[in-house]
Amino acid sequence: MTRRIFKSICFAALGTFAASILLFMAVLYHYFSNIMRSQLAMQTQLAAWGVEREGVAYFEGLELADYRMTWIGTDGTVLYDSIQDSSGMENHIEREEIKQAFAEGVGESSRYSATLMERSLYRAQRLSDGTILRLSIAQHTLLSLLFGMLQPLCVIFAIVLALSFVLAYRLSKAVVEPLNSIDLDEPLGNAGYEEIKPLLQRLAAQQRKIRKQSEELQKRRGEFEAVTSGMSEGIILLNEKRIILGINPAAMRLFGTDDSCIGSYLQALSQSLQLQELLQKAGDGKHAEMTMELSGGMYQLDASPVFAKERVSGVVLLLLNVSERAKTEQMRREFTANVSHELKTPLHTISGCAELLANGMVQKEDVLKFSRQIYAQAQRMICLVEDIMKLSHLDEGAEDMSREWVNLLTLAKETAQELMPEAEAAQISIRVKGESVRVYGIRQMLASILHNLCDNAVKYNRIGGSVVLTVEKEGEGVRLLVTDTGIGIPPEHRDRIFERFYRIDKSHSKAIGGTGLGLSIVKHAAALHNATITLESSADAGTTIGVYFPKHVEKGIN
Ligand code: ADP
Repeated sequence: MTRRIFKSICFAALGTFAASILLFMAVLYHYFSNIMRSQLAMQTQLAAWGVEREGVAYFEGLELADYRMTWIGTDGTVLYDSIQDSSGMENHIEREEIKQAFAEGVGESSRYSATLMERSLYRAQRLSDGTILRLSIAQHTLLSLLFGMLQPLCVIFAIVLALSFVLAYRLSKAVVEPLNSIDLDEPLGNAGYEEIKPLLQRLAAQQRKIRKQSEELQKRRGEFEAVTSGMSEGIILLNEKRIILGINPAAMRLFGTDDSCIGSYLQALSQSLQLQELLQKAGDGKHAEMTMELSGGMYQLDASPVFAKERVSGVVLLLLNVSERAKTEQMRREFTANVSHELKTPLHTISGCAELLANGMVQKEDVLKFSRQIYAQAQRMICLVEDIMKLSHLDEGAEDMSREWVNLLTLAKETAQELMPEAEAAQISIRVKGESVRVYGIRQMLASILHNLCDNAVKYNRIGGSVVLTVEKEGEGVRLLVTDTGIGIPPEHRDRIFERFYRIDKSHSKAIGGTGLGLSIVKHAAALHNATITLESSADAGTTIGVYFPKHVEKGIN
């Protein structure tokens, strides 16, 4: 800019100088040409008068200084010339001023020399005898004048050039320096020339506007952060180029990043092609969703386009934790598959036996055996269906079942009694010991806990072994312990035996009538009473499963 101002000033100064010199000279030249022309006319008139009076004698001893005088006859021949010998001169009849003088009495013309450096002015006047007297004078042309003044002009030009340089330098500095030193944070605090003030005022107004907008932005950002920081769902705001504009702490945790990712592309956080496709769809103005694994959990990603002036200006990405839902879904699928599988086996046996009986293909002595088989499998199916129903009842919270005070010792004794036939068959003794304590709960569920634990203690025991049911107060709660001297549970299975249909030895469990749902029912029923389960087991000494019922806070009695 400084250069441009500098150049402009220099060119303007020099241009003005050159133009004024030219104009000045042209005006002067025109002025002096007019004077010269009128003098020439006057001199011609005087000479004509002299020649009219004296004839040829007038030319004798004539001092003409700058003028040239020519006398031309009526046929155009030169009768006299003050410079040249007239006899050698060509006929002048065709000369412009001569022709005009013959026709009008007076003629005028001018002619340039070959070099254009000189111009001759002619004035011709017809005399009374029809001859023509012509006077001419040489005049320097404007060009020759300019050439003649070249030296002084160059000197003046150099001075003007130097002056305009200094002036231009100072001026451009005076214009640009205050502009360069403007303090944009405090524009009005700048001292400058008068003309800069409107600019400074506009800058100050702009500054105020920007400050207000940035405060507003900051406020909005703060609000967004306040709202989203406490959310367990992740939120990411992207612009149309997929650059992160905002991200809440939950989303940062999921992508293992911090707020330094703001301003960078989302691709820097995840290169998942699926995610890119999802954002592409949202970028095209459509809502899109997908599920993907993030930091060990399953998340549903919802991408919604944000419109501004009917154009997609960004995308809001919402990350919802659906791990629990996915897990439940998975469990439901597994459970359905397991149930179908568990039911299919006894049904096949029943159907096979029944078919053989119906076709009369069974020997009379085997009919009983086949009927027992059908009965046993049907019983197995009944047990299975009963357990499944119990579980689904528990899954729904067993809200329809009423709670009451139940004496756990009495219930334990009843259970022991129920299982006595099976225990005796396996020569296993069952003993119930402890205090008579009450638990506030669902009788049916408490009975289920006792039955399943005791049943397992008998089923997975050794011949001649024992089962002990202990009910005792512990702290403010009640502990139920079922101890057996059975086969024990290997450590690697201990975490899984409470899962539905999980059995350590499938064939053994099935052979002794297990459904694989007993401990699952225990787990759910215990949870319904806020009870915790403990397990101790060793391959030699057997297993002890404990259920601890804490104090019933709601009722305040135990
Ligand atoms: P099941 O109907 O097969 O007994 P459960 O859910 O009651 O199913 O038990 C799951 C598995 O845990 C059993 O199949 C068995 O392998 C093991 N188990 C349960 N209780 C005992 C125990 N007292 N001693 C040894 N193993 C046990």
